Amino acid sequence: MLYIGNHTTSSKGYAAMARQMIKNGGNTFAFFTRNPRGGKAKNIDEKDVAKFLELSKENEFEKIVAHAPYTMNCAAAREDLREFARETMKDDLKRMEYTPGNYYNFHPGSHVGQGSEAGIAKIAEILNDVLTEEQSTTVLLETMAGKGSEVGRSFQEIRAIIDLVDRKDKLGVCLDTCHVWDGGYDIVGNLDGVLKEFDEVIGLGRLKAVHLNDSMNGLGSHKDRHAPIGEGCIGLEALVRVISHPALKGIPFILETPNDDEGWTKEIALLRERYQEV
Ligand code: FE
Ligand code: FE
Ligand code: ZN
Repeated sequence: MLYIGNHTTSSKGYAAMARQMIKNGGNTFAFFTRNPRGGKAKNIDEKDVAKFLELSKENEFEKIVAHAPYTMNCAAAREDLREFARETMKDDLKRMEYTPGNYYNFHPGSHVGQGSEAGIAKIAEILNDVLTEEQSTTVLLETMAGKGSEVGRSFQEIRAIIDLVDRKDKLGVCLDTCHVWDGGYDIVGNLDGVLKEFDEVIGLGRLKAVHLNDSMNGLGSHKDRHAPIGEGCIGLEALVRVISHPALKGIPFILETPNDDEGWTKEIALLRERYQEV
């Protein structure tokens, strides 16, 4: 089974997001837990959640992949910004328990000149503060393009964060195809080699979700500009190989392409048509 959907822009609640995704031909989706630039989250409506759980069961949704706001920087130099990140993640994880057993993805952070080692330690420290034994949510570290001072620009940096976290059983990784390509991993010419390296450095068992994006820029460009599927430097064929790769079988693929629902519907249909079940 191929699990594919898009990062939905609808903000009318869980059931509305699921309905839109069913219309788009999807069976998973991503969404922002709150305004992407931060701010207060809306209250959870339990009726809406109940309807969502019913819809996702009927339509064979597997996992959904929540996305933390971009502004959350666990590696910030300023302690007030780190406190905001800590409280945001704590609150988001509490809210995630209304839809148990899903994924919460976040950008590890930017070290803003402190150096990646200091950034890695700060990110791990917040994870150690917020992860609890009781939570059913798996927190995913997103692989980053290495724009500016982003931490998580290599598999080694992701691994270094995981190494410092106590509750490793609550951690996973979300691989963004645009980001790893921009980060210098050649998923076009050598997908097997990249996944082998991921396995050696992090372990494929931690790879829980993929952000499926084309890239406007070349290998190693460190730019992070997403392109629609087949319209960028990665190309359709390479992305079809990603969704069809046996090592990635059964995990959710989330489109974060610059699109609207009509465009995502077309991309999902195209990828479903080209998907090779192995
Ligand atoms: Fe992201
Ligand atoms: Fe992403
Ligand atoms: Zn991106």
